[in-house]
Amino acid sequence: METINIPFNKPYMTGKELFYIAEAHFNGILAGDGPFTKRCHGWLETRTGAKKALLTNSCTAALEMAALLLDIHPGDEVIMPSYTFVSTANAFVLRGGVPVFVDIRPDTLNIDETLIEAAITAKTKAIVPVHYAGVACEMDAIMDIARRHSLMVIEDAAQGIMSSYKGKPLGSLGHMGCLSFHETKNIISGEGGALLINDASLVQRAEIVREKGTNRSQFFRGQVDKYTWCDVGSSYLPGELSAAFLWAQMEAADEITNRRLALWNSYHQAFASLEHDGIIIRPVVPPESTHNAHMYYLLLSDLASRTVFIDHMRQKGIGTVFHYIPLHSSPAGKQFGRPHGELPVTIEFADRLVRLPLWVGLEEQIEVIVTEVFSAVKC
Ligand SMILES: *Cc1c(COP(=O)(O)O)cnc(C)c1O
Repeated sequence: METINIPFNKPYMTGKELFYIAEAHFNGILAGDGPFTKRCHGWLETRTGAKKALLTNSCTAALEMAALLLDIHPGDEVIMPSYTFVSTANAFVLRGGVPVFVDIRPDTLNIDETLIEAAITAKTKAIVPVHYAGVACEMDAIMDIARRHSLMVIEDAAQGIMSSYKGKPLGSLGHMGCLSFHETKNIISGEGGALLINDASLVQRAEIVREKGTNRSQFFRGQVDKYTWCDVGSSYLPGELSAAFLWAQMEAADEITNRRLALWNSYHQAFASLEHDGIIIRPVVPPESTHNAHMYYLLLSDLASRTVFIDHMRQKGIGTVFHYIPLHSSPAGKQFGRPHGELPVTIEFADRLVRLPLWVGLEEQIEVIVTEVFSAVKC
């Protein structure tokens, strides 16, 4: 019998990455903010409409910059889902902020916007919606709450590049948006990210925070005649080799998204009957959103059936994985944050969710995966 080996993730490379890295090598510019970084900034600004896009070393770094730009002080509260990656919370905890975890919606698994207002206190400074699986949070409601309570909104759009909400790209809706180019995301550079700044009043300080607290960016543009230490900051900019790699990916962003969407749609059609029979629940994409096929997941009936499912798939040589341990139930989440209420949807769905392989190049193997999913859910 032929053995199957389908990993959960496999980074896609367009073939042009090494060509552009060679060009950067030839240019002799290896530090940050060289020609490739500028191309990437231009692409992001054109595609998202952000006032300013700045490449960072990761989405984690972009979130940390956002926390610095908001002047988060010890005790300040930041509202976010518990069903997210640690960096969403850590970036604010590093500044002494307190994550306040709100439950998620059972359809998109995004923060439940109807629960946000009750979690606001006199200490609340910001809301951090996370666009899970690249599907938008209910941003109109969230921005309206933020406006009424004078809060800042930082989108964790780590998974959201090329997705939109009511025609607007994710990451361009809040005051700032954070993207990831980690190798597990759609558009990659290994480790990488970007901060999108939509509020023009934050742009100048963002450049300073990203350049070790100096006005080096203004110096290079000839706007000041020497550069100096102006503010707190760190080194958040990636080198040109990463930007050169990323540029190859940006050029192919439409093709990558279309190929991922085709795979996502194949899964979605194939599993319609299982959903109809009440065996699984498929992901929901609200009509006002377009998505980037970042992830395909299934909701199984409970933790026991998910464990059986993952074991079955592993035995067949197919990598499937669960996702977040809710932050409010983690040791650091208990120490640094607090849940707002009981978070029943978060707790239940974290146990039921399983992610299937979804990567460019999987086209030939998708039928095998579908067949094994059918046998896994029936065993
Ligand atoms: C991947 C991810 C991050 C972290 O991105 P890095 O680029 O690895 O720092 C943050 N938040 C969410 C929701 C993510 O999926």
